Amino acid sequence: MCQKPLREHSWGGTPTAKMEVKTSLLDNMIGVGDMVLLEPLSEDSFLENLRKRFDHNEIYTYIGSVVISMNPYRSLPIFTPDKVEEYRNRNFYELSPHIYALADEAYRSLRDQDKDQCILITGESGAGKTEASKLVMSYVAAVCGKGQEVNKVKEQLLQSNPVLEAFGNAKTVRNDNSSRFASVDSVLSALALLPEVKATKRGADGQDTNLLEKSRVVKQPRGERNFHIFYQLLSGASDDTLKKLKLHRDFSKYNYLSLDSAVVSGLDDAANFRTVRNAMEIVGFMEDELQSVLELVAAVLKLGNIEFKPELRCNGTDESRIKDKNDLKEMCELLGIEQSVLERAFSYRTVEAKMEKVSTTLNVAQAYYARDALAKNLYSRLFSWLVTRINESIKAQAKTRHKVMGVLDIYGFEIFEDNSFEQFIINYCNEKLQQIFIELTLREEQEEYVREGIEWTNIEYFNNAIICDLIENNQNGILAMLDEECLRPGTVTDETFLDKLNTICAEHQHFESRLSKNSKFLTDHSLPHSCFRIQHYAGKVLYRVEGFVDKNNDLLYRDLSQAMYKANHSLIKHLFPEGNPSKVNLKRPPTAGFQFRASVATLMKNLQTKNPNYIRCIKPNDKKAAHIFTESLVRHQVRYLGLMENVRVRRAGYAFRQTYEPCLERYKMLCKRTWPHWRGPARDGVEVLMADLQVPAEEFSYGRSKIFIRNPRTLFFLEERRRQ
Ligand code: ATP
Ligand code: MG
Repeated sequence: MCQKPLREHSWGGTPTAKMEVKTSLLDNMIGVGDMVLLEPLSEDSFLENLRKRFDHNEIYTYIGSVVISMNPYRSLPIFTPDKVEEYRNRNFYELSPHIYALADEAYRSLRDQDKDQCILITGESGAGKTEASKLVMSYVAAVCGKGQEVNKVKEQLLQSNPVLEAFGNAKTVRNDNSSRFASVDSVLSALALLPEVKATKRGADGQDTNLLEKSRVVKQPRGERNFHIFYQLLSGASDDTLKKLKLHRDFSKYNYLSLDSAVVSGLDDAANFRTVRNAMEIVGFMEDELQSVLELVAAVLKLGNIEFKPELRCNGTDESRIKDKNDLKEMCELLGIEQSVLERAFSYRTVEAKMEKVSTTLNVAQAYYARDALAKNLYSRLFSWLVTRINESIKAQAKTRHKVMGVLDIYGFEIFEDNSFEQFIINYCNEKLQQIFIELTLREEQEEYVREGIEWTNIEYFNNAIICDLIENNQNGILAMLDEECLRPGTVTDETFLDKLNTICAEHQHFESRLSKNSKFLTDHSLPHSCFRIQHYAGKVLYRVEGFVDKNNDLLYRDLSQAMYKANHSLIKHLFPEGNPSKVNLKRPPTAGFQFRASVATLMKNLQTKNPNYIRCIKPNDKKAAHIFTESLVRHQVRYLGLMENVRVRRAGYAFRQTYEPCLERYKMLCKRTWPHWRGPARDGVEVLMADLQVPAEEFSYGRSKIFIRNPRTLFFLEERRRQ
């Protein structure tokens, strides 16, 4: 890892007339702004401090340079242009804790120190990650470069949010606007907006790497909705547009739209549709592209209405027939597909083996499977295309790559009553992010002390590497076993997969293999049928295996991709390149799990080349309500996010560190012996400086290349002296 574990504070910024640090961080009325300063430190006092601050609308609190963000569930007047100005170019600790302080620090580090940045935003579903990422983006857009070209990039970047949210977010039981994707490359939605920093990146390379929760397209859990765009289109499009798309305004006409929660209070789908349309124009979509996109959305709705009935054949087998061909006909008109081609693809499946083609008929269940697979593929490929298209548009504006600031906002950890393959994948991704947090803030921090020769007693913390290994290990990780099962000839079911998991686990109990030693795979006998349980860092999760094999296989019959490839539609053809008959590839496409694991690995690599900045989001209650602080819920999050360990490491260690040269440069004015020029090694100069200023010896340590300062107060003292 090439980065420093924690931000090396520049100790720069514009000096301000008044140093407000002490009051902002140590005001007892509203709690302590930096948990490092909390006395006494215990889990209870930590929670009490959070609560006190939350009650006073102070939703941000620091742990050193990490920002804890509590979701206020209401709009607060702290994100105004005046606030932006207030935080602009100020030292991290100068003002009360704010997400803008972190954004400013990251931005200055990008600009002045030429370091690519990433802002890692974590927390469970509904904790406020997406809102936080938008605040960071808008802050950076407000303070960075000017000029026509830069303004255009800024505008496009900001406007890409409503587009991605319309197509990638949905109402869930946890969150009315839940992100249902983690476009692994795309999540690094870069804000490179300086005139000299023009790079932007929000791209998913290739298809289907966006990790969209595509099962939602065809089925939604109770109380949840499909992706916003479906409802937006039906509510907000003009009569004329709907007519062209052969759609009704009435949600209840569509099988793919859940009805029990179709209308969400506070969500204005019609207004949002206009926002999205407008945003797409600003981002650079042409009118005909927009039309194509809407045609695809409409086609998915139509597809869901195609139903099948069995027809008994003379050999006694059932063959599926389409019940009413009107929706099929309209869908084919929308996509420029010959009806007979698609109809055939819903009735037969061609398997090619050893240069031989064998056609088998589909029964009703297989036909529904094929229909849903097509809908999921159409939509998720459309989503990937949108992401790539947005990216290209912005890239075209921002021609050269210099520096990148990535904002990582993905779906949060999920524990439902019923957890399936989607939750398994989502939670795996969150484990990896937790891992990177541990690596960077806890492990690397401690290692740095050792490297710098600073005396140090290690602090114990829970390392979730063991859980990541349980899932992703190449030999006997759960994903590898699932792949093995999916690729095995013979009858493969979810149950055979579960048997395999349990057997390997049991077998290995004798041989002390990784899995059995891995106590995170919980094998108690109280498990319900068809389930396995994992002890994740954020809690125990019970997974139901039903659908694991299918979802991992992610099979789209070739007949369907070939039918799509033949479409006379500008967009569809590009989305199904494998349907090109001259490019028949008998190799099995990679499984969903395999693709996901590879994407996560790419993401982690990408993050490790950047300077990390952390925002840890906390959900105050389960009611999506303002002013309610449910202590047990917050306590649980504080625990699993490892925030106490984070404070302990910070407190036992040193809040700040800085290499000797810049430190001397900044403070040499405070001492006659070092001002204006110090001749000699910078370290000696800093020693002279500290002695002259009578900073108590226990407050700092001299490392090999850096000075380490224990308490933020010492830094405040130095800064104050500079101003006098
Ligand atoms: P998911 O993992 O499901 O995508 P998330 O962590 O991204 O969840 P958000 O969508 O950012 O959660 O937040 C959920 C809701 O909480 C928002 O729609 C908004 O109503 C409210 N919220 C979050 N942060 C803020 C904030 N800073 N100010 C006001 N409201 C907020
Ligand atoms: Mg989100």
